[in-house]
Amino acid sequence: MSNLIAIDETRLLNELNTLATLTHAEPADNGTAVTRIVFSDDDLRARTWLKELAVAEGFEIRDDAVGNIFIRWAGTEPDLPAVATGSHTDAIPHAGMYDGTVGVLGGLEAMRALKRTGLRPRRSIELVMFTSEEPTRFGIGCLGSRLMSGTLDPARADNLQDKDESPLSAVRTAAGFAGPLASVRLPANHYRAWIELHIEQGPLLEREGIPLGIVTSIAAPAGYRFTITGFGGHAGALLMPDRKDALCAAAELILSVEKHALATGAIDTVATVGTCDVHPGAVNSVPSRVVLQLDIRDTNPERREAVMQAVRRDCDDLRQRRKVTIVEELVNADAPAQSSPHTVQLLEAICAEQGIACKKMVSRAYHDSLFMARIAPIAMIFIPCRNGVSHRPDEYASPTDIALGTRVLAQVLAKLTSE
Ligand SMILES: [Zn+2]
Repeated sequence: MSNLIAIDETRLLNELNTLATLTHAEPADNGTAVTRIVFSDDDLRARTWLKELAVAEGFEIRDDAVGNIFIRWAGTEPDLPAVATGSHTDAIPHAGMYDGTVGVLGGLEAMRALKRTGLRPRRSIELVMFTSEEPTRFGIGCLGSRLMSGTLDPARADNLQDKDESPLSAVRTAAGFAGPLASVRLPANHYRAWIELHIEQGPLLEREGIPLGIVTSIAAPAGYRFTITGFGGHAGALLMPDRKDALCAAAELILSVEKHALATGAIDTVATVGTCDVHPGAVNSVPSRVVLQLDIRDTNPERREAVMQAVRRDCDDLRQRRKVTIVEELVNADAPAQSSPHTVQLLEAICAEQGIACKKMVSRAYHDSLFMARIAPIAMIFIPCRNGVSHRPDEYASPTDIALGTRVLAQVLAKLTSE
């Protein structure tokens, strides 16, 4: 590992700890609790602090209309497409201190480390901090990268409301980010390469004792809402042969989802019915209406659709047999993303040269990189996190793993910027 670019591990860890103090989360006894909702005071303080770090380094700064931050180290050929890295610093309520932040502060340290080597990058290097990777406030994840990649209609985005019914347009303006959202979009091939450093949020690296994951594809979620309507009535008076119990039909539908997701035989197919709203929801009333929400993910969109087709056939059977209506609505369906084979190869070569054990893997959680794939060849570097835990105060990545991920990031940025 001696040939890898040296990073200032102490400084990076101190910065991660400082960022973790910019929160209003109640202290947790099992770790560091962080809550940082987009455009809250904590989020705005974190942005100001990050910009100060970048300015101290002499990097250029730009925000766009939705508040994505771009920290740029100009290359000797600044007109060439830049190489970029980054992640997010927002955090869901009572989350941990490593999700996203490792990619932002690790990216910043990687740039500083390259600067210390005396490198003069040919292509500019940009660090991006995305607005609202988490869906907490406006109900949709990856707001910043969706707008950047043209995946979300700007007018629809500006009308998204938070729980106080304030639209994004008003909230972002109050936070100091004005201008038309359409201006956030970047053209295809805007970046020469995009690479995101992130904690795995799964158990595989730790379980296998491997310090570094190279993401080859990102599974994409699709969301569906099923409304099942039957016939309600008194739990005593409505006789069993006469029933059209919506919850019984829903129970079969949930098991159908599980059955067909398992039947693909692919470890990358996952499907979850995570909510079940029962109407009227009384112990002595036959359920007349049930709303289910399904989250289904796969690295292969055809396979994901095949599961949905099988579920739909079972819905037809349920309609016939149980005399209920079932309405399916598509909430969202994003395309999966493949990593750039070239960047993956570069990362593998770095690991081989340096004797670092690595594992090619699929990202089952989605990230801003999923959307960046539309405007750049992407890749991701994963580092292990304890017990695979994330979005909880006991989320933990070791200093050694954070430092190694940051070194490999610096190394691959150096390669990419010279190409
Ligand atoms: Zn994240």
